[in-house]
Amino acid sequence: MSGQRERIDALFETGTLDREAFAALIDGRDEDSAAYLFEKARIRQQEHFGKQVYLRGLIEFTNYCRNDCYYCGLRRSNRSCDRYRLTREQILDCCRQGYALGFRTFVLQGGEDPHYSDDDLCEIVSAIKADWPDCAVTLSIGEKSRESYQAYYDAGADRYLLRHETATPEHYARLHPPELTLENRIRCLWDLKEIGYQVGAGMMLQAPYQTTEYIVNDLLFLRELQPDMIGVGPFIPHRDTPFRDEPAGDAALTLFLIGVLRLMLPQALIPATTALGTIDPLGREKGILAGANVVMPNLSPVDVRGKYLLYDGKICTGDEAAECRACMQGRIRSVGYETVVGRGDAPRVARKQNR
Ligand code: SAH
Repeated sequence: MSGQRERIDALFETGTLDREAFAALIDGRDEDSAAYLFEKARIRQQEHFGKQVYLRGLIEFTNYCRNDCYYCGLRRSNRSCDRYRLTREQILDCCRQGYALGFRTFVLQGGEDPHYSDDDLCEIVSAIKADWPDCAVTLSIGEKSRESYQAYYDAGADRYLLRHETATPEHYARLHPPELTLENRIRCLWDLKEIGYQVGAGMMLQAPYQTTEYIVNDLLFLRELQPDMIGVGPFIPHRDTPFRDEPAGDAALTLFLIGVLRLMLPQALIPATTALGTIDPLGREKGILAGANVVMPNLSPVDVRGKYLLYDGKICTGDEAAECRACMQGRIRSVGYETVVGRGDAPRVARKQNR
């Protein structure tokens, strides 16, 4: 791995590389350099987080979507998708169950579903915060106006996940219909940041047409945005989308990028995602060992689990929340880490709150 060790050392020391070195690092990945990268990534991970892994309870509250992203199983053109929505009471029930299981962050994720007005969403957020004031609420409901983001924040939302998907405009245009633009997605991310959210961005890896150059663009974009959270995972095709015949990504590249991102943004909250666990049965455990420090077990009611299918083969669609929680704890323990009960804020925010 001539050159790889030097690149990884430089990334470890300085937190960044130039464009050429990033591209060479990614293209030069092999087992040896990955092992060395993960060793370095774990140093940074443990410096900031010890061997603690934060839990987020994921509540997939609607699979209706007005958008038509070419990769996503929830796209509006997918007539085979069996649509559902959870009521406020159902969402609160999920939180109640989750709280008893030790979750202190609830992530409300969904398609972009206009059925829920801003008032509805604000009511849901403030109801959760009223019942469980020691919990954080994360929203992941797509592109909205700045005013809407402000309203949710004022209602008590703490964090927002909005992957940028790809930072290259030509690539973005090949993954999305023309009415969706990278420009607006990035506008949303900066608005969220300015409002005061802990913000998450990130990208799908090995989505159709992706090149190393595009991944480097993603890294440079993330360096500029400095998000608190970064979600990366492999693209996996869904049978009822235009990308049905495209190959799935592999775990190795996602793991490698988790390691790179841990060195670039040592304090970031980086999940070992469900998609990673879908593509490799031990993907999430390997993700933790590559530098990730968050897992997001599912809290959605079991009867809707199998309907929130972004991609084919999604795991954990049959288990009760308690089983998911226990399973995850076992998986994390198996690699020498511990899941913790707590909000698990971004370190910069946690420091402020402790003062
Ligand atoms: N509607 C929300 C939530 C999207 S689902 C939003 O727009 O942010 C969360 C993430 O799942 C997406 O950001 C995307 O990166 C990922 N995803 C969607 N389809 C996928 C697929 N086929 N393979 C892998 N990841 C996918």
